[in-house]
Amino acid sequence: MYRSGGTLPRPQQTRIMIVANQKGGVGKTTTTVNLAASLALHGARVLVIDLDPQGNASTALGIDHHADVPSIYDVLVESRPLAEVVQPVNDVEGLFCAPATIDLAGAEIELVSVVARESRLQRAISAYEQPLDYVFIDCPPSLGLLTVNALVAGAEVVIPIQCEYYALEGLGQLLRNVELVRGHLNPDLHVSTILLTMYDGRTRLASQVAEEVRSHFGTEVLRTNIPRSVRISEAPSYGQTVLTYDPGSSGSLSYLEAAREIAVRGATTSQHVLPQQEQRGPVEGAQ
Ligand code: ATP
Ligand code: MG
Repeated sequence: MYRSGGTLPRPQQTRIMIVANQKGGVGKTTTTVNLAASLALHGARVLVIDLDPQGNASTALGIDHHADVPSIYDVLVESRPLAEVVQPVNDVEGLFCAPATIDLAGAEIELVSVVARESRLQRAISAYEQPLDYVFIDCPPSLGLLTVNALVAGAEVVIPIQCEYYALEGLGQLLRNVELVRGHLNPDLHVSTILLTMYDGRTRLASQVAEEVRSHFGTEVLRTNIPRSVRISEAPSYGQTVLTYDPGSSGSLSYLEAAREIAVRGATTSQHVLPQQEQRGPVEGAQ
């Protein structure tokens, strides 16, 4: 078991963080598992919910997720208690995972005819009795019923943005969905955190994208950028986060720093800060 020195402020209530961006490959899963591990290594109890049929978060955490494993599909579609599918993560004390199996690919359609289809995940998390400081939900790259379940289940949306051309494309649609869910189903929902990922400081494009994101969004953007790092991309093939795979690497240190920012912000804002998107102009390049 790895344990890191030092502690971070722990939230008074469980913070449910929805890691979403319907754009594929922007670093949602990488961000989910590495932030979750960073917080757990600092003493927090953290649950990762893998809500993507690809099961990448389960793989990255070294969690068995072959077809017969009890999974988040059973929770959403069969009303199985969340506690029955949660598994402890081997290398990191205090870190747990509700895995996704390939079954989840059918859930988008199966859920359509289920009662209270948008709030299945929210109900399952509410009924979970183990104490938790954080829940991180890794969303699939779409805005379907699985992502809607995530948006109903928590208060804080975390948006990873890859520092590349077209980075902001589609973001307007995600933000509109957040507003819709906030207006109709979950008044607490807001974008609390934006994280710039795969940042390559040597390119002008990366710094231009970073600048653009920072000018569109204000304080939601974390000061820490996540660099492009081979160690980050290698870690999942060992069923590990970069925090345990290479603790001293720049990727590991940057996720620790991002997690620290998130923990400290949560401690200083007793009430969730409402988003200010309405007061800003529309996101440029957004569809
Ligand atoms: P999907 O939309 O398919 O779920 P995603 O948004 O979850 O994708 P990831 O799977 O986290 O994105 O990352 C996409 C790819 O980029 C992966 O191969 C991952 O290892 C790699 N990657 C993510 N972050 C970094 C980084 N900071 N440096 C280098 N590679 C990275
Ligand atoms: Mg993913």
